[in-house]
Amino acid sequence: MFDNSNELSPWDRDHFFHPATYAGAHARGEMPTRVMARGDGVYITDTSGRTSLDAFAGLFCVNVGYGRQKIAEAIAKQAKELAYYHAYIGNGTEAPIRLSKMIIDRAPRGMSRVYFGLSGSDANETNIKLTWYYNNVLGRPEKKKIISRWRGYHGSSVMTGSLTGLELYHNAFDLPRAPILHTEAPYYFRRADRTVGEEQFAQECADKLEDMILAEGPDTVAAFIGEPILGAGGIVPPPTGYWKKVQSVLEKYDILLIADEVITGFGRLGTMFGSEHYGIRPDLITISKGLTSAYAPLSGVIVSDKIWQVLVQGSDQLGMIGHGWTCSAHPICAAAGIANLELIDEMGLIANARDTGAYLRAALTEVLAGRRNVGEVRGDGLMAAVEFVEDKDDRAFFDPTKKVGQQVAAALLERGVIGRALPQGDILGLAPPLCLTRGEADIIIENTASAVDSVF
Ligand code: PLP
Repeated sequence: MFDNSNELSPWDRDHFFHPATYAGAHARGEMPTRVMARGDGVYITDTSGRTSLDAFAGLFCVNVGYGRQKIAEAIAKQAKELAYYHAYIGNGTEAPIRLSKMIIDRAPRGMSRVYFGLSGSDANETNIKLTWYYNNVLGRPEKKKIISRWRGYHGSSVMTGSLTGLELYHNAFDLPRAPILHTEAPYYFRRADRTVGEEQFAQECADKLEDMILAEGPDTVAAFIGEPILGAGGIVPPPTGYWKKVQSVLEKYDILLIADEVITGFGRLGTMFGSEHYGIRPDLITISKGLTSAYAPLSGVIVSDKIWQVLVQGSDQLGMIGHGWTCSAHPICAAAGIANLELIDEMGLIANARDTGAYLRAALTEVLAGRRNVGEVRGDGLMAAVEFVEDKDDRAFFDPTKKVGQQVAAALLERGVIGRALPQGDILGLAPPLCLTRGEADIIIENTASAVDSVF
């Protein structure tokens, strides 16, 4: 824990309801807030003047790095010229129109339109509604269930909290169970029998999905949602062949595929989209974090032409599609998005994510090799995870109450590097800004090794 308490601390303690908070500990002053003040590249500085290397890019989102003047200026220019006008039919502003074209130019083949929201959660709400609308228009009112995966993260609103397959996000909230179902997480390290190869495990996951579809009745299942690589649920890349097998099950039963690319969209895996990286052919794609590098809140659903044609048919029959927010397609956020996508191209960040990501993961694997408590180093692109175990040889997991992952993250922070203990399991997550240099990667690697040694 890091304390830079100042005159704001009483207000923070008594009035600010933080997202994802331990309310009691915060209210009692046991969890002081580290208040951040400035950022530059991969570095962030708090109000006491202490600087850390942010190896988690905020929350997997500040992909271009902090302090980019180009984006700040684009936001200011838009705010001065026209801070807001709505985009309900017959109205709009320039920036979201331009941005939709830029996104479709970069999107996987077959994509046609972008619906803009403000958060990954609301974009996934839009996905659920579009999926239901689609099946209603096609005269299939029973085809409504959505299959998600244990350990998937898709948001924390009412429906998307339910989609999220982490119990922590369900506890005591009475989120709707139906029409959401969860299937096996493709988590080879934790779930697979050691005698089973990766490809065979991928087949088992696809078989379980098919069994679930058959048990529920294929005519009742509308869509499957998944992150190309599990993110908050452990940074777990799919086992070999997983997406191909899943895709063929879904096609067999005419079930839509929603690729949740909130983390992977716009470069994190070293390709523009994770779908491209793993050969996924989605019907809908969720985007958010990397779209503006979180300089302004913006999300989107990229809609395939297949879905769009049905929406057109539905709207011709039923009238206006009654879905939208006051701030959908907000021009200031869209201006940030345009500048951000331009910067990703200008700085060559996608190639850098691929190269520096490979370097970071290889060096981390090498430096941590042989340590009894490091079960696995894994990841893809600029996403890496270190999973801790009691004993690597027999894959014995720690008692979760020991919070070993959090201890390592705290030790890393003391050394000046921000990583993140992922919420389920003893996993240290690393997802630095895509502008990370090899020198900065070395700082992360050295300090991770030192933090691990200080805990075990
Ligand atoms: N989908 C994925 C894959 C995410 O990682 C997240 C957030 O971490 C979300 C959706 C939800 O996005 P938000 O927090 O903006 O609502």
